[in-house]
Amino acid sequence: MLDKKNFYINGKWVKPLKSKDFEVINPSNEEPFAVISLGSKDDTDAAVNAAKKAFLKWKETSKEERIKLLEKLLSIYKKRFNEMAEAISMEMGAPMDWATDVQTASGQAHLEDFISRLKNFNFEKQFDTKSNNHICYEPIGVCALITPWNWPINQIALKVIPAFATGCTMILKPSEIAPVSAMIFAEMVDQAGFPPGVFNLVNGDGAGVGTHLSGHNGIDMVSFTGSTRAGKLISKNAADTIKRVCLELGGKGGNIVFADSYPNAVRDGIKNVMSNSGQSCDAPTRMLVEKSIYEKAIKEATDEANKIKVDIASKKGNHIGPVVSKVQYDKIINLIKDGINEGATLAAGGPDLPNNLNKGYFIKPTIFTNVTNEMQIAKKEIFGPVLSIIPFETEEEAVAITNDTEYGLGNYLQTEDKEKAKRVAKKLRSGCVYINGNGADPGTPFGGYRQSGNGREGGNWGLEEYLEVKTITGWK
Ligand code: NAD
Repeated sequence: MLDKKNFYINGKWVKPLKSKDFEVINPSNEEPFAVISLGSKDDTDAAVNAAKKAFLKWKETSKEERIKLLEKLLSIYKKRFNEMAEAISMEMGAPMDWATDVQTASGQAHLEDFISRLKNFNFEKQFDTKSNNHICYEPIGVCALITPWNWPINQIALKVIPAFATGCTMILKPSEIAPVSAMIFAEMVDQAGFPPGVFNLVNGDGAGVGTHLSGHNGIDMVSFTGSTRAGKLISKNAADTIKRVCLELGGKGGNIVFADSYPNAVRDGIKNVMSNSGQSCDAPTRMLVEKSIYEKAIKEATDEANKIKVDIASKKGNHIGPVVSKVQYDKIINLIKDGINEGATLAAGGPDLPNNLNKGYFIKPTIFTNVTNEMQIAKKEIFGPVLSIIPFETEEEAVAITNDTEYGLGNYLQTEDKEKAKRVAKKLRSGCVYINGNGADPGTPFGGYRQSGNGREGGNWGLEEYLEVKTITGWK
């Protein structure tokens, strides 16, 4: 059992002031493999005080000094890359290839991109050529960074790196379900030599450290990625101190497959939604298929889903792993049962364990057809390998169904008609629209409309979230 009970506060690994142990479970075998501590109010206060003190000097550092430290961190990240992948695989069940090539690689990509954005970022500029007013971008201060388990290092990198880059200090509270990758990251920060107090890590749960942080008077900004449920609680708890609250929340993405889409569009949609065992905020979990190709699409979709293998995370290969926890497993299985009870057709998968496994939180890739957008399986974020297929007749109807959700994170569309693609993309109410399987480039903004959140992470937008803007008159 790994002992991961200490916190990283003020440049040192320290014992918690009040100890409460919490076991980290390997979802492939349901067994604990590490123990962490859940922090108290006193632990949170100690970290906030360290970050407040460090801010006074860190905010005065030059861009060049910060770039140098970030480059050091990048070189350490590359050296300890495999260790990071193994931790992610073990704590959240990502198969080793996926944990390595996608999950851990995303952290490196964000580090590289933010370093290059920072090199070209101007923290000061003249308002316009005729004005004597000057504009300054200044670090907002002490930030609480609260992250989820599903893309652990991706979400940490999207918060910690821009906070470092802009001169903010921070307290990271990673998900208590998948905290080991975050602790390895904290060791890397320590090795890189950031000044004490600039980065602090306190483990804990939402009701404890998460709540202490969001309500804390010493915190200037909370950046949160996680469920819409927790996002609402954080916003309410932060209201009394008027701190900035940036939210990256859940999703229920639509994937519109027009009759004129490219040949593999349906199969690619299935691979996309089932990857990471369906545990991605922007997963395209509602596939809308034009009626004229509906039957053919169902055949392709079920065939593709049945081909996907489910197996333990430590194995190499392109199978999918378990879902992260017993809580998530039960929630997903109950939603699959709801879909059956609501009258949707179960075309692949279902609530039983895959035949090759008798332990672990494994769920078969599951497809429902004849789904209406009113059903719970079409409305709720299931966060597992479950897809609903919904037929449509016209472009207008496809747009209306896709937008008929309280979320607005990522939507997808497939058509060979370029004009139609652009027209529909502009009508979809979401922070991202992916046409014909094209991915978003590093440094593009990522975030949601409506109950999917209010922030934008990545690139210059990600840097600006951590900055205040100041006008100074009479500059010339
Ligand atoms: P979660 O909301 O349960 O937990 C996320 C983090 O918030 C954890 O660290 C948790 O301890 C903490 N937390 C929980 N309640 C809190 C509270 N009241 N106050 C403060 N902190 C609290 O989410 P999860 O199950 O870890 O992650 C899955 C969710 O994250 C999904 O809804 C998914 O869509 C979302 N997500 C969104 C994005 C995005 O960029 N929009 C990316 C990844 C995941």
